[in-house]
Amino acid sequence: MASGTGRRTIAVTGSASGIGAEVRRQLEGGNARVIGVDLRGQEVEADLATPAGRSTAIAAVRDACRGALDGLVCCAGLGPQFKPAESIVSVNYFGAVALFDGLREILAGGSDPAAVAVSSNSASISPGADGPIAAACLEGDEAAATAAASGNGVAAYSSSKLALARWVRRNAVAAPWAGAGIRLNAVAPGATLTPLLQGGLDDEKLGPAIRGLPIPLGGVGSPEQIASAIVFLLGPESTFCCGTILFADGGSDALIRPNAI
Ligand code: NAD
Repeated sequence: MASGTGRRTIAVTGSASGIGAEVRRQLEGGNARVIGVDLRGQEVEADLATPAGRSTAIAAVRDACRGALDGLVCCAGLGPQFKPAESIVSVNYFGAVALFDGLREILAGGSDPAAVAVSSNSASISPGADGPIAAACLEGDEAAATAAASGNGVAAYSSSKLALARWVRRNAVAAPWAGAGIRLNAVAPGATLTPLLQGGLDDEKLGPAIRGLPIPLGGVGSPEQIASAIVFLLGPESTFCCGTILFADGGSDALIRPNAI
């Protein structure tokens, strides 16, 4: 274990609110040590929208975990209602990928290490998500991706989440991840009652679209339901999962894309 005390050490971005805060609560309830990363109020304060903030976060997590990390959850994100839309792409895709890349080496020194990205079912069910924004993200071209996202928060959100899930699929099986014994997976939550979703529900245009999305299990998800899927992907009960995109969305994706496999 990274701490040498039998406690797992897990870094969680976006840990100040919503799903990330609940991941923190569940992990600490299981006796893990959590290094939280957020804009404020956590062990590491950093702005993942900027390259400087990402570097600060990586250096601070490396310092805090003293060289070995057992898990990483990249949960920090901005909703489609956030303005400017460019920041959605910068945080949701480039912020997450920078931390996965920057902390991969110390994850390799952890015990049964695992990393989890937080994508969204909007990646698979939003028309147009697989377009120029996602392509620029996957080419690592932040300037082109943010320019393509300008003024279009809905496309910025779904495309950044599609690119993140695809990045997970492509990298999970590669030598630096699976080859180094690090399991890399993602969750794809559906509508989950957090401040991010509330911001969308309160938006004049987005609110009706969100309310109109069919959810076969009914209602919306809770942070607890999504966090338990994330904790599963970090832990000993998912040790053969690699490159999995785990939908936790009440069945919306299966309803809309029954033949996606
Ligand atoms: P939330 O707003 O409650 O929490 C998001 C956290 O990310 C906040 O603490 C915020 O401060 C942090 N964050 C935002 N920008 C940041 C930045 N530049 N640097 C550092 N931290 C930053 O939202 P949530 O619903 O808990 O969202 C968590 C993740 O789940 C996000 O990636 C979101 O896209 C994803 N998701 C949420 C839903 C939903 O319906 N709530 C659905 C699918 C996916």
